[in-house]
Amino acid sequence: MSPDLNSKLPDAGISIFAHMTALANRHGAINLAQGFPDFAPPEQLFAYLDEGVRSGFNQYAAMPGLPQLRAAIARRLEYRYGCAADPETGITVTAGATQAIYTAISAFVRPGDKVLIFEPAYDSYGPAVRINGGQALYLRLELPDFSIPWDSLEQLLSTETVRMVLINNPHNPAGSILSADDLLRIGELTRRHNSLLLWDEVYDLLVFDGNRHRSALEFPTLCERSIVVFSIGKTLHNTGWKIGYTVAPEALSQEIRKVHQFMVFSVNTPAQYAVARFLESHSEFTDDLAQFYQTRRDLFLQCMRGHPDFEFLPCHGSYFALARFQSAGRTNDLAYAEHLVASRGVAAIPVSAFYHDAYDPGLLRFCFAKKEETLHEAARLLWHGISRLPSS
Ligand code: PMP
Ligand code: GLN
Repeated sequence: MSPDLNSKLPDAGISIFAHMTALANRHGAINLAQGFPDFAPPEQLFAYLDEGVRSGFNQYAAMPGLPQLRAAIARRLEYRYGCAADPETGITVTAGATQAIYTAISAFVRPGDKVLIFEPAYDSYGPAVRINGGQALYLRLELPDFSIPWDSLEQLLSTETVRMVLINNPHNPAGSILSADDLLRIGELTRRHNSLLLWDEVYDLLVFDGNRHRSALEFPTLCERSIVVFSIGKTLHNTGWKIGYTVAPEALSQEIRKVHQFMVFSVNTPAQYAVARFLESHSEFTDDLAQFYQTRRDLFLQCMRGHPDFEFLPCHGSYFALARFQSAGRTNDLAYAEHLVASRGVAAIPVSAFYHDAYDPGLLRFCFAKKEETLHEAARLLWHGISRLPSS
């Protein structure tokens, strides 16, 4: 007799990122769907990885992270946000931001606890809450600029006791950013029930047009109740290394580490060594990152300007630009994205994938973290389609 699976995630299928990437590969299409760079990380990082392996960094790292990496992260946080995070007690290195988010939810959300998620939302948030028995409360950000629906938020918080609020800034997929006032207002509204604030700031270095990222770490009144999550993959063009970290006050970090130690115990040692060495010696790399990605955003949007099928929305940060599309008779955004792969040879993400109820705002997400030639070619294909071989 087959076992009763009693699935904890009965509705979950394969992630949209895996689905669109597989489809892109099958069609030999350009993958502007999954968010990863198609260029290499800095060469020096490889040298440090080699150095780490050869100089003996091959056994388990300390459970909360290699001390030299936590120290390098603490310096970075001090430099960027004036935040004096204690590497001993406040910074925990994780296997990517995904694990950081899951671990933080797991540490604090008990069965029946309510967790507020703004949508569109990164695909792991809701499932992480549900696996831990929590109840996700969803609130839609307001189009066209994906602003926080303050009245609805206030109303919701006046009737519900919310254990945790998840906030993604800069936002995937919207490309929007929050102001200092927004952060403080969220803090104010959630003070009543002392809700925990889980900030997903993985795109903190990717804020454009002279704006600067406002981190929860800048505000002591927020820090008391905050866990802030970052991703090295987004910082050093090495998403496959899967290194992230959490920053939180000591008492919260202790709880995070209790779960972390039984989940992964510690993270890949030579990779942590290499990242630590690189962050210590190449601070200019992270200083230049916003300009590096802004150039790619501008190039792609410039190439797509005037396209009859796509109207791009403003993008203030992250790897992503959203476009309204003319659906050409397709019933929904997923069908249109799949059609685009086959007909134009370019893969994008349908934004309904970021809503738990598959709400479809008629938008596609394009990742511009790609070589300039890739973006040129993708734009050419989106304009002209896959060129047919001339008939002889
Ligand atoms: N949060 C957001 C908003 C993301 O876009 C991503 C990945 N692109 C993650 C978390 C996960 O980051 P990581 O790859 O470090 O697990
Ligand atoms: N975060 C990446 C994105 O938004 C994908 C990560 C993944 O494939 N899980 O595209």
